[in-house]
This record gives sequence, C-alpha cells and structure tokens, in this order.
Amino acid sequence: MDCSEAGRKMEAFLRNELSIMDMRQYLRHIRECDACRSELELENIIRSAADETRTAECGYDFSHSLSDLIEERETRIRAYGFTTLLDLILSILIIGTIAAGIFL
Ligand SMILES: [Zn+2]
Repeated sequence: MDCSEAGRKMEAFLRNELSIMDMRQYLRHIRECDACRSELELENIIRSAADETRTAECGYDFSHSLSDLIEERETRIRAYGFTTLLDLILSILIIGTIAAGIFL
C-alpha cells in the first residue's frame, strides 16, 4: 500500500469500516510510514476531541488514544485469523467425515 492509498483508507479505518484484509495492509503501512502515522494521529485527536464521551474518559489526554485504537484493530485481525483457522479445521473434519461415510 502506498501513501495515497493509505490516505484514502484513513477515513474508513477510523470509522472501523475497513475489511480485515485492508485493515491489515493499512496497519502495516502505518507502522512503517511516519508521515501517514502522524496524519492518522492528528485526525484521531481531532475526532476524539470532538467526541464528548471520549474527552470525558481520557480528560483531554489523547497520547494513548491512537495506540489503543491500533491495538483494538489488531486484536480484531487476530480474532479473525483464529476464526478462519477454526473454520478451516472444521471444514476438513466435515469433509473427512463425509469422505469416510462414502468410502467405508
Ligand atoms: Zn505513507
């Protein structure tokens, strides 16, 4: 993902509307690219400051805000990966059971 694509995806990322694939690529870019990370950080602070429930929570200290957000998204990606793996194992078991039923 390049910077212009990351810029386009930022809005969707903040709204939590990116697909897991896009989110993974976006976060990878954010980790490597200081410019896009700063842009996201700034945008996140602006949004947090505009959201009264969040300013009440963190008392106008937004220093952990973005890392919390990124952590939350990464947890979602990991949870998704785990679910996909479980699905795969389950599918293999089902196919195995069906195959066993046919051939035995
Ligand atoms: Zn960038």
